Amino acid sequence: MRVLAMLDGTVADPEAAHIRVDDLGLMRGDGIFETVLVVDREPRELGPHLDRLARSAAMLELPPPDRAAWERCVRVVLDAWRGPDEMALKLVYTRGPEFGDGTPTGFAMGMPIGEKTLRNRVTGVRAVTLDRGYDPEIVARAPWLLLGAKSLSYAVNMAALRYAEAHDAEEAIFIGADGSVLEGPTSNVVVATGRTLRTTPPSSGVLRGTTQGALFRAAERAGWVTKVEPLTLPELREAEGLFLASSVRKITRVHTLDGEKLPDASTLHTELNALYESEYA
Ligand code: PLP
Repeated sequence: MRVLAMLDGTVADPEAAHIRVDDLGLMRGDGIFETVLVVDREPRELGPHLDRLARSAAMLELPPPDRAAWERCVRVVLDAWRGPDEMALKLVYTRGPEFGDGTPTGFAMGMPIGEKTLRNRVTGVRAVTLDRGYDPEIVARAPWLLLGAKSLSYAVNMAALRYAEAHDAEEAIFIGADGSVLEGPTSNVVVATGRTLRTTPPSSGVLRGTTQGALFRAAERAGWVTKVEPLTLPELREAEGLFLASSVRKITRVHTLDGEKLPDASTLHTELNALYESEYA
């Protein structure tokens, strides 16, 4: 089951063609997106997702997204949804047709969460570390690299996941040229030691995660210490728990890193999941 609504609020057939073949989102990956988790018709972290959409648009010099139009468009999809309790809601915003009048293309599409993602939430995952090929020091110096924007140019991220799958893992964790930990191809890295949670900073070119943000909010309320600071590979191995956070995977546990079993963090995983869910109780 899928539900599609165009940014003007019209419901459209997800099986039919709606985007021109010369759309720059298709031709060059020149656009941005968000994936929002919806549970029981309630979109989670919609505000932070729309904030990030606006930040990504500014970085790509796209017209500022019309927030009210996006909220309306999301509502249209939610109202038409007759599928499972959980939905992945994609918001896509591109530069529009090449040589057009500059009007962006925008749509929201709701779809079920993939089987693999649902399974990994329960079983945990094996991850491999992969070289991302840039030094975080370049982020401020080279804004054209769009590091930290959620652009549609995800071919590299998808290739990293395929590489992980070809090497006995379900997930990847990118490492910077300076050896620092970055993020997963579609997730943020969170480590737990004692009652402290840590994640890598957006200044290193990683996405500002809405799920990690929600988890840290809940954890702070429950008396945990949270830190956003650079992490090293040995710190991932030595942590009591290593997790990948994103909207659709929620807080997924990493049980094996580069072929080595990590300490059993299943109790910690249950605790962090409960903290995250408490944000929406
Ligand atoms: N980092 C990258 C590269 C991502 O693509 C994503 C989400 O897909 C995240 C982090 C996690 O972001 P969020 O928790 O807002 O889904």
